[in-house]
Amino acid sequence: MKQFQYIRPATQQNVLDAITKSGTKIIAGGTNLVDLMKRGVTAPDKLVDINHLPLKGITPTKSGLHIGALALNSVVSENALVLQKHPLLSLALKAGASPQLRNMATVGGNMMQRTRCTYFYDTTMPCNKREPGTGCGAMEGYNRMHAIFGASQQCIAVHPSDMCVGLAALDAVVIIAGKKGERRIPFVDFHRLPEDHPETDNHLAKDELIVGVEIPDNNFAKNSYYLKVRDRQSYAFALVSVAAALDISGGLIKQARLAMGGVAHKPWRLYDAEKSLVGKAPTEENFKVAAQIAMQGAKAYEYNAFKLKLAPASISEALKHAAGVV
Ligand code: SF4
Repeated sequence: MKQFQYIRPATQQNVLDAITKSGTKIIAGGTNLVDLMKRGVTAPDKLVDINHLPLKGITPTKSGLHIGALALNSVVSENALVLQKHPLLSLALKAGASPQLRNMATVGGNMMQRTRCTYFYDTTMPCNKREPGTGCGAMEGYNRMHAIFGASQQCIAVHPSDMCVGLAALDAVVIIAGKKGERRIPFVDFHRLPEDHPETDNHLAKDELIVGVEIPDNNFAKNSYYLKVRDRQSYAFALVSVAAALDISGGLIKQARLAMGGVAHKPWRLYDAEKSLVGKAPTEENFKVAAQIAMQGAKAYEYNAFKLKLAPASISEALKHAAGVV
């Protein structure tokens, strides 16, 4: 591993000053970054440790719940306000990684984690995300874990997070600090599709810092569910996952939120399927129709065609759990 410098700036402003230099990376839990460094996928000159910044709080706001970027995944998943207001987020967090990793991983770090495409981690293989212009090892390779939505000729990788799928479904907002002050962007717009620049995972500028996320209040707490389908029950990334949230009143669905993981370069919101459910009864039949609508535009590669069946079945199953009709 290449030698690097480690610094721990005293304040958030000092961190913002430090990260303007190229070759600099922020470290919090380090659960992904250290792996990437050990395997030579990334080789920063300097690590900027932010663990001591006061960004761990989970606090109610006028219209929602603020979660600091340094709140640990394990802490968020067991927080009383999260369990009461957004149990879907707790389920999504508990579906991710292992208890040991969740005890180190932060909310901001979870958002910044990189794909688990095996060709990205294998530095002997071509990968446009690791080394732009070298090609995509997965395109003609063993692409069982890869995307069925939103891929490009450059990259067919998927985003690995469960937490992010939950936050995308819950209309969360990302709060970002920069030299010019704070900005807020919808969570669904934080990550990007690969297009011609798969090396860029998200819309965070190099001199910006995630300081938190905010989830607006909603009526989904009673009817939400996170379903993760994976090769083993723990410590495995999703083949397909679904975050489903329903606002049911008088026997009809007033609002629906659906997002998927394991299928695209970013958490994949299913807007048309959501719309199709509004005003309908929460029945298995209506859920199956929504699941079929969600699959429009899906495209498989040689080894992941099974996702074209697994995904709609998972959507339907997650909706049944959310509605309590299993
Ligand atoms: Fe690299 Fe993306 Fe291709 Fe994987 S899918 S090898 S991350 S370019």
